[in-house]
Amino acid sequence: MKRVLLLLPTTSYRNDDFRDAARKIGIEIVAATNYCHKLAPDWGMAPIMSLQFDQPHAAADTVLSSIAGALDGVLAVDDAGVELAALLCERLGLSGNPPAAVRLLRDKQLFRDLLAGSNIKHPQFRPLPTGTDPHSLLPDLSFPLVVKARRLSGSCGVIRADNADELAEAVSRVRAIQARSDRDAAELGIVVEEFIPGMEFALEGILTEGELTTLALFDKPDPLDGPYFEETLYVTPSRLSPAVQGQIEDTVTAACRAAGLVTGPIHAEMRVNAEGVWLLEVASRSIGGLCGRMLRHSLGISLEELILRHLVGEPLPNAVAGDAAGVMMIPIPRRGIYDGVHGLDAAQAVPGVTGVNITAEKGQIVSPPPAGSSYLGFIFSRATNPAEAEAALRVAHQCLRFDIRTEFTAVAR
Ligand code: ADP
Ligand code: CA
Repeated sequence: MKRVLLLLPTTSYRNDDFRDAARKIGIEIVAATNYCHKLAPDWGMAPIMSLQFDQPHAAADTVLSSIAGALDGVLAVDDAGVELAALLCERLGLSGNPPAAVRLLRDKQLFRDLLAGSNIKHPQFRPLPTGTDPHSLLPDLSFPLVVKARRLSGSCGVIRADNADELAEAVSRVRAIQARSDRDAAELGIVVEEFIPGMEFALEGILTEGELTTLALFDKPDPLDGPYFEETLYVTPSRLSPAVQGQIEDTVTAACRAAGLVTGPIHAEMRVNAEGVWLLEVASRSIGGLCGRMLRHSLGISLEELILRHLVGEPLPNAVAGDAAGVMMIPIPRRGIYDGVHGLDAAQAVPGVTGVNITAEKGQIVSPPPAGSSYLGFIFSRATNPAEAEAALRVAHQCLRFDIRTEFTAVAR
C-alpha cells in the first residue's frame, strides 16, 4: 500500500475530502497538522502531528526524525503547508516542487519580482518596507492602487485605495493585519501595486513534469472592484473565447516555468481586459474551500482523488465534457457572532442547485476580508449552460438569511 504524508491545516474545510479519497484509492495517510504542539497531545494526537508550517526547516527536521517507514509522497492540503511539503520531498528524494519555487509563489512581492523579469503582463508594484511613508511611492505608481500583505491568502490583507488618504488608511490596516497573522511581518513589509480593471478568471490545473493540464477555467462573474475583495461566484466552463482561454493557459504555463514549478496542483488567478491577460497570482495548491466539489462531475472523480492519484503516479481518468457548474462562496455580510441560517430548504430546492453547505458554526466569530478570510458556506449548482448555473446560485443565495449577532467587547473596570 502506498503511503502519503498529508499536511493538514487546522482550519481547512477539505481534510475529510482528502481522507475519503485516500480510503477510496487505498492509500495510507500519515497526517500532520499545524495544531499547537502544546495542545495536540491533549487532543490525543502524536507529537509529529503538530508542526509549525511557517517554520518549514524546523518542521521538516521534526518529521524526518519522527516518521518511521518509507513515504511515497508528501502533499499539503493548502497554502500554509506547501513549503514544508516541498522541503520534505527534496530531503526524501520524492518527486516534488523545488522549495525555492514554492517559497517564491507564496510571497506576493517575490512573485511580482519574478514577473518583472519576464514578459508576462502584471501590475506595476513597489515594496513598502515597515516604517516607510506610503506617499513616497506616489511618483512611481498611479491610483487606483491595491495594498497587500505579502504572504496571506483569501483576500485577507488586500485593500484598494483611490487617493492618498485612502492609501495611508489602507497601509496602516494591512500592516496591522499582517502583524497579527505573520510572525515575520516587520521584516517582510507590504506591497503596493496598481489596480488592474477587468473581469477576473481562475485556472485550476495540474502540472506533470512541467506540463500544464487545465482541469477547469472559471469565470468570476461578480465584479471584484474593491475596496475589499471577497470572492463569491466561480462558474465553469468559462464563457471566454477559445483564443483568450488559450492566452490564459500560455500565461500560466510561462509563469510556472519562470518560477520553476514542475508538479502537482496549481490555482492561478488573472484579470482580462482590452490589453490582454494580466496575471495576479499562481498558487501551488488546488482551489480552496469546498469549491473543488463542483468539478467532481467533469473530472469523473473528486479533485482530491485526482490530486492523490497524480501524487503517487496512479492513472487519471479522462475528463468528460460535462454540464456547466458553479459555486458561490457565501460572503460574510459583516463581522459578528454567527447564530444560524434561515431559508436553507428553499435554497436547496432552487432548480439547478445541487447542494448548500453551511460551514460556519453557531457561536463562531465570522469576519469578512480584509481582516478575515473565510465564508459562511458554499452553494453548488449544475445546469446545461454557465448562465443558468450562475443564476441558480444567485436565486439560492437570495433565499438565505443569516443571523449574525454583534459582539460586545468586554470593558475592564
Ligand atoms: P490572495 O492571496 O489573498 O488571494 P490576491 O493577490 O489574489 O491575494 O488578491 C485578492 C483579490 O484582490 C484578487 O482576486 C483580485 O480580485 C483583487 N486584486 C488583487 N490585486 C489586484 C490588482 N493589482 N488589480 C485588481 N485587483 C486586484
Ligand atoms: Ca488570490
